[in-house]
Amino acid sequence: MINRHAVAEYDGTDETNIISELFYTISPDVTHDHFFVTRVQEAIKSHLDSIGCAVSRMIEYTDGCSSQYKSKTCMGVCSYLCEKLGYSQFERNYFETSHAKGPQDAAGGLLKRQLDVAVMRGNSIQTAHDVYKFAAENLTEPKSGIYSRRIFHYITDIDRSATYSFKAVPQNRKVHQMTTSRPGKITVRDQSCYTCDNCLAGMTSINT
Ligand SMILES: [Zn+2]
Repeated sequence: MINRHAVAEYDGTDETNIISELFYTISPDVTHDHFFVTRVQEAIKSHLDSIGCAVSRMIEYTDGCSSQYKSKTCMGVCSYLCEKLGYSQFERNYFETSHAKGPQDAAGGLLKRQLDVAVMRGNSIQTAHDVYKFAAENLTEPKSGIYSRRIFHYITDIDRSATYSFKAVPQNRKVHQMTTSRPGKITVRDQSCYTCDNCLAGMTSINT
């Protein structure tokens, strides 16, 4: 998962800088559902708070996996994010199937390769916590690339107690962007846009 944000007072200066960090969540929980995604969103918010990074508009890029990101429930629960995490707007952009190859795949690939090497060298890595421990101890500082660091987060407490009921989104397959700023209400569009002035300013309902 990629986490890119501006941080004021970076390196002791008052200038605003753009920095890129890689944020990994590692868990023994193997159920890929919206409850897990919500837990990761909370972890990211905690991290942003911990580094003093105030985010008002959270923008995600995901694939169109139904159980994690794109079912009516996945989309509906996102409408509670702003209220819960303090964002003014939440936007999720959906890649077309197989178009989502990018830095996140390279990030995951690197971790897997490093784990393979570690096992070949005789390390015992058998559980999710072993993975977390190895990564946190050995891989937080990238040797090259644009990322300032890798952050590893271990998650076990996935709350799956909530029940929801949301209306289906018509023509869900065509949707490539959803935005929300208040509970129970989302706006969807066939295409994302971060080009025109309105969309750049987050007024995605004005211009399509
Ligand atoms: Zn636009």
